[in-house]
Amino acid sequence: MPQLIAGNWKMHCLTADAIALAEAVAAGAAGITAELLVCPTALHVAAVAKALAGSPVAVGGQDCHQTPQGAHTGDIAAPMLRDAGASYVILGHSERRQNHDETDELIREKTIAAVEAGLTPIVCVGETLDQRTGGQETEVVGWQIAGSLPKPFAGVVAYEPVWAIGTGKTATEQDVATMHAFIREELVRQFGEDGHGIRILYGGSVKASNAAALLAVPHVGGALVGGASLKADEFLTIARAAR
Ligand code: PEP
Repeated sequence: MPQLIAGNWKMHCLTADAIALAEAVAAGAAGITAELLVCPTALHVAAVAKALAGSPVAVGGQDCHQTPQGAHTGDIAAPMLRDAGASYVILGHSERRQNHDETDELIREKTIAAVEAGLTPIVCVGETLDQRTGGQETEVVGWQIAGSLPKPFAGVVAYEPVWAIGTGKTATEQDVATMHAFIREELVRQFGEDGHGIRILYGGSVKASNAAALLAVPHVGGALVGGASLKADEFLTIARAAR
């Protein structure tokens, strides 16, 4: 399975910027063997999907509601993302866990809703700095996997240590190797044989200069890229470093 290089554009770009960025990524995608994905804000999914039509670059959302429709002012349903051209959705990002008090249980419900709508969920897990300094990182990530992923699980896991997101601090290759091996073990323990086939992305200050080393670590199935995905050249350089 090729690696997946996913860009999380977060709350960046006006429409014209999002389209220009998508077009620049698509223009440089030829010859890249990794799967490419960009996740603009929900408002821009349709325009970005249109800009990427005919290219190998997929589009995803950054969140969805746990129900397919209803009286939920301001929320976005998974079928709406699908309808707008998304094929993936990021769920349980630490910024949503922190800023919107999202729990593992809610993320599991959202994951089920995403799969029912035909989207591939990318479920984020990862420990805070306090949890890591307290030596609780594997315990925390194990609980997040058990609580956030429905059984069976038809999606992708992204390991994103919270202390490495947007901070410029990258986990060392050894940190990533240890945690990805642990996550693989947990997935196999919790999901049986299917656990071997679940992609595990690394995310947290991935950039052109560290991508090759991080993407070469065993059990790393790709990268979830925040800041560096807003520059097409850097995002494409990261993608070229993928296996
Ligand atoms: C992210 O927000 O998913 C992320 C990994 O951000 P950054 O690459 O900027 O650390």
